[in-house]
Amino acid sequence: MKRNVDFTEISDNKTYSSGDMCKVSTGGCAGCHECCAFSDGTIFLDPYDVYELSHNLNLSFKEMLGRFISLTVVDGVVTPVLMQKDNACFFLNKEGRCDIHSFRPGYCRMFPLGRIWESEDSFKYFVQVHECPNIQSKIKIKSWLNIENIKDY
Ligand code: SF4
Ligand code: SF4
Repeated sequence: MKRNVDFTEISDNKTYSSGDMCKVSTGGCAGCHECCAFSDGTIFLDPYDVYELSHNLNLSFKEMLGRFISLTVVDGVVTPVLMQKDNACFFLNKEGRCDIHSFRPGYCRMFPLGRIWESEDSFKYFVQVHECPNIQSKIKIKSWLNIENIKDY
């Protein structure tokens, strides 16, 4: 997705690889669910996210569409996105926790990291320094994402 922002204003002006340490750990979020509550139309799903949702919820893409996935157009490409319920992410429960935490989308796993693309098939991570009020400590990016076979992913 193309964003018309100054990289130096939204980041610490550094980029990272998955083996790097960076200050992004929120210590388990400690009851906060701010980014899930204000997720309106921002949780974009990649093919692996859709596969994980479909596989774990035992629903076809068609069955998920309109129920908690809608389609939007990003940079000319039709893209699935998580829908909202009661002004928050569809999967944020009454206790303020994520109902699909173990298979939450990559976008949620990353936050407050972002990705900056260097070419069509290569990207780096960066810290979105103004997006999370609870960043506490450094962690290896690979551990933060906690995705098996991250290279393949
Ligand atoms: S805003 Fe930060 S601390 Fe709060 S839920 Fe999101 S990532 Fe966790
Ligand atoms: S899927 Fe889970 S982690 Fe992601 S925005 Fe929704 S409630 Fe939050």
